[in-house]
Amino acid sequence: MRTTTAYGTHGSTTLVAGPIERRELRPRDVAVDVSHCGVCHSDLHAVHAHASSRADDLLVPGHEFVGTVTQIGAHVAEFRVGDAVAVGNIVDSCGSCDMCRAGQENFCREFPTTTYGGRDRVDGTTTLGGFAREYVVDENFVYRRPTNLDPAAVAPLMCAGVTVWEPLRSHGVGPGSVVGVAGLGGLGHLAVKLARALGASVTVFTTSQQKADDARALGATDVIISTDRHAMAAARGRFDLIIDTISAPHAVEPYLDTIGLDGTLSVVGYLGEISVTALALLIGRKSLSSAGSGGRISTQELLDFCGEHDISADVEVLPSGQINTALERLARNDVRYRFVVDLSDLKNA
Ligand code: NAP
Ligand code: ZN
Ligand code: ZN
Repeated sequence: MRTTTAYGTHGSTTLVAGPIERRELRPRDVAVDVSHCGVCHSDLHAVHAHASSRADDLLVPGHEFVGTVTQIGAHVAEFRVGDAVAVGNIVDSCGSCDMCRAGQENFCREFPTTTYGGRDRVDGTTTLGGFAREYVVDENFVYRRPTNLDPAAVAPLMCAGVTVWEPLRSHGVGPGSVVGVAGLGGLGHLAVKLARALGASVTVFTTSQQKADDARALGATDVIISTDRHAMAAARGRFDLIIDTISAPHAVEPYLDTIGLDGTLSVVGYLGEISVTALALLIGRKSLSSAGSGGRISTQELLDFCGEHDISADVEVLPSGQINTALERLARNDVRYRFVVDLSDLKNA
């Protein structure tokens, strides 16, 4: 085993730096020196769920990171020491089911191995995430990142970005599409930038009046304050697609009302129960959908697209020692628009 330093918790909501073990490299493994890792709202959900489950195993969150390859296994074909890379929230999959064969490893029938809290497919250990100095990962789930972009601002593409990219692409968003984005946070602000770059007109639904100017600066042509019932009613039938990134339970029917004929509401933020009548779908033949993470093909496609179009996240970079501040501020919706922690300041154990 090799030892590195990581921010983790044994059941408290406060992360503490300490030594963890990474596996020795398997033939197709790559060791990544992690420089930056984004702080996703899912990390916050995971830390709180872990604390309330009273489990005392170690949780190390962090699942959108960038860094540099420092070592490769004997059979690694695609990467060399020194390569600029990125890793997202999936680090392995079965590779042979229909989903994996279709390039949708994110929907692997055997469930993809998540970057943290997953079960390693070889040795059965629990995976520990990217709030760490080093990560060891199968090369199939390592991506080339565009080096023309700030690495810190690329990290959030690996979860927040790809989670909104797949539904934008699978619903055929392009010039002339009318897209709504609900919730202007980490996922939402990237959805605005990406939909705009694909040629869509974009409207942001937000509860935060003070984000309206930012929404326009990010590329939105219109902003609707979602608590304003008149504004919501005036938007009836307007959208081809809404990407709903809201992190908390909420009523989705007001958003469905704003979908037009044959349009889709894609709920990617809150993944618990939602309540919809079939009638709300019937009128306008609407679809309710969801998406999560990305397959290998679309993840690399997203990174390449962002490199070409100069797109990355709006980030507030904090020293790794302030990881708990990032989590606390994220919980208060006090982020514009993604926290990223700088892990290069962490010494290897
Ligand atoms: P975030 O940065 O905290 O953004 C969430 C946004 O939701 C907030 O900025 C806020 O936008 C809105 N919001 C929060 N509480 C709300 C409430 N009570 N009512 C209405 N709106 C509210 O979070 P994120 O990192 O983008 O993640 C968003 C959600 O996606 C989280 O639940 C996360 O777990 C989930 N997620 C899912 C996947 C997946 O694979 N499907 C991947 C990553 C994350 P406004 O201020 O504009 O209203
Ligand atoms: Zn995430
Ligand atoms: Zn599979």
